[in-house]
Amino acid sequence: MAQQEEVFKKIVSHCKEYGFVFPSSDIYDGLGAVYDYGQNGVELKNNIKQYWWQSMVLLHQNIVGIDAAIFMHPTTWKASGHVDAFNDPLIDNRDSKKRYRADVLIEDQIAKYDDKIEKEVEKARKRFKENFDEAQYRATSPKVLETIEKRDALHRRFQEVMNAEGGIDLTGMKQIILDEEIVCPISGTRNWTDVRQFNLMFKTEMGASADGTSTIYLRPETAQGIFVNYLNVQKTGRMKLPFGIAQIGKAFRNEIVARQFIFRMREFEQMEMQFFIKPGTELDWFAKWKETRMAWHQALGFGAENYRFHDHDKLAHYANAATDIEFHMPFGFKEVEGIHSRTNFDLSQHAKFSGKKIEYFDPDTNESYTPYVIETSIGVDRMFLSVMCHSYEEQQLPDGQTRTVLHLPAALAPVKLAVFPLTKKDGLPEKAQEIINDLRFHFNCKYEEKDQIGKRYRRMDAIGCPYCVTVDQQTLEDNTVTLRDRDTMEQRRVNISDLRSIIEDEVSITSLLKKLL
Ligand code: ATP
Repeated sequence: MAQQEEVFKKIVSHCKEYGFVFPSSDIYDGLGAVYDYGQNGVELKNNIKQYWWQSMVLLHQNIVGIDAAIFMHPTTWKASGHVDAFNDPLIDNRDSKKRYRADVLIEDQIAKYDDKIEKEVEKARKRFKENFDEAQYRATSPKVLETIEKRDALHRRFQEVMNAEGGIDLTGMKQIILDEEIVCPISGTRNWTDVRQFNLMFKTEMGASADGTSTIYLRPETAQGIFVNYLNVQKTGRMKLPFGIAQIGKAFRNEIVARQFIFRMREFEQMEMQFFIKPGTELDWFAKWKETRMAWHQALGFGAENYRFHDHDKLAHYANAATDIEFHMPFGFKEVEGIHSRTNFDLSQHAKFSGKKIEYFDPDTNESYTPYVIETSIGVDRMFLSVMCHSYEEQQLPDGQTRTVLHLPAALAPVKLAVFPLTKKDGLPEKAQEIINDLRFHFNCKYEEKDQIGKRYRRMDAIGCPYCVTVDQQTLEDNTVTLRDRDTMEQRRVNISDLRSIIEDEVSITSLLKKLL
């Protein structure tokens, strides 16, 4: 794990060094858990968004997009339950003055028991070698059984405090932290404050004069912009159930503990799709969307073993099924996307609070009802982080050198083709520029003439550019160039007129979309 943390640190500095992600307001030493995307980061991020948007809106005849405002009528958040219940339980350590999410401290403790069990199993596997019967060992080893019992007891207690009548039992939560002897990772002490609830929404004022102002919130999720537009879109688009509305946009959460780089930010971006369906069909659609979304992730080619579903034990009171898609980050399997069956909760609440009738008239059955909803919700930034983490490699080369390379899926890479003149004279730069002038309409090209070719290759490897072309003397004679592949580093001689057809297909989002059909 320590080694993995080391790798993660390197990825974070790589992101800064190569213009992917900078701390916000860097010259003022940054702002907690807020980040800016640089010249390469914005391209990668846009490609991720495009991949998602097109997979939703182009590939589904019954999904349309919207772009709702970040500011919404304050009643929206009363209706959605965020004003009253979008809270995290926080606890402070008096010695280190560090603040933690109490539920996360307990979840980490459960994970520690899980780790302990797995370590015992691995130890036994090594000891017994080919005679090892894992199932039997798990069922009979006293050490494993004792840890499982402790883990399950803690899990049960945690469920009880989280699902207590009238909301989370904060006193019970603190008692668990004390009983489990959980210490602050910084101070190493158990000198904890009580657990308190903390609302995650940012507030601001709208309007200039004191009496004309109203408190409004920066949206903590984009979903509500879709729900309040359900009638507008359904009517103007003459949409028939089932249909979906997709949206990409910023969301804001005043996270208590913002750690792990762009994994948990206070300003982030979501890609959400709400799929409106007939009540009673939700579990079928939930299963369908789980499958569709997992296929979207896996089409990137990062390996099925790096994804898993994590079904929720604790369902929000309005949900009747929920799962996360988790990705294997350097700091463990972590949520990148949530898929939720939200019943008709949101639409019914907005109907109640707005006094408007929000229903669907079903022409097939001649009845009116409030549609049910399946939501798919993914964070752009977490997706970005998973792509970065999986692509980053410090590669040992056969000649003893190392190179840092980002094996980005070509369709997501910020720059698709770099064109280098071998030298800065003899008309080579002009020839290289000519190639770019022709290809720049089709994909993102970059011209580089500084430093030796080897160094230029390394710079392109570091930003994940899948192809480099070198223009040399021979190019002037026969219009051929060397085309170098980022991953294999192989070079071949190709005709300039063939470049577009060789590269375009592979670097286009369409190539990914085709894998989904
Ligand atoms: P977590 O449990 O990690 O706080 P969540 O379950 O609250 O996440 P959702 O409300 O389901 O998250 O939001 C959907 C998606 O939005 C998440 O899967 C994640 O990708 C993204 N997301 C949520 N909070 C953040 C954040 N603070 N920073 C970056 N991305 C986020």
